[in-house]
Amino acid sequence: MTYTYPFTAFIGQDLMRLGLLLNAVNSKIGGMLIRGEKGTGKSTVVRALAAILPEIDVVEACPFQCNFHAADLMCPYCRKAEVLLPPTKSINLAERKLRTMPTGGTTPLCAGMALGLKIAKKALQRKRVPWPRIVLITDGRANIGLEKIKDGTPLPLHEEVLSMAKSIGKENHIRSLVLDTEEKQPAALGMAREIARRMNARRVPIHGLQPKSIVEALLE
Ligand SMILES: [Zn+2]
Repeated sequence: MTYTYPFTAFIGQDLMRLGLLLNAVNSKIGGMLIRGEKGTGKSTVVRALAAILPEIDVVEACPFQCNFHAADLMCPYCRKAEVLLPPTKSINLAERKLRTMPTGGTTPLCAGMALGLKIAKKALQRKRVPWPRIVLITDGRANIGLEKIKDGTPLPLHEEVLSMAKSIGKENHIRSLVLDTEEKQPAALGMAREIARRMNARRVPIHGLQPKSIVEALLE
């Protein structure tokens, strides 16, 4: 059986203990670096504190193990959207990337939509694609935002998303499609429906969807 020396039984090193306790109370402090001679109790006191901290759900694949439920404390890595596959004509490459696409973790929906819009606009400017399309697969729920401030207070996540949807909707040369993955249930918010409306996009519920119908919806 492993035994953890109790935190409360540790005598001395008051500053180190105070620093650790402050970090436990508010993780916005951002951590603490401890260094010192061998035998001063560094590991003992850190392990003792870790033993009394509650378990948290961490964001999968985050190198800093951000708390999944504390969006305002998340690292830049958890906040950003990423281009996994730049526009390509290679179906093989696209298939491979889609198959190995990491899922889980955070949903920075607004950042993803902004990035999609940027790529579509670039394609339009370079005249490579006359009608770029944005296909958004979503249940309309974001759990992390761009932290936009309006009138001194942070904009709620859903407002941020809807305002971005409106920006996409204003682009007359970009056609959009929303594949709505929200489950049909009494508590459904219909957020994907609202996003599609603001994006000026067609909305197709994911239930019973066939690959052919996605192509048809896109070609319309
Ligand atoms: Zn993180």
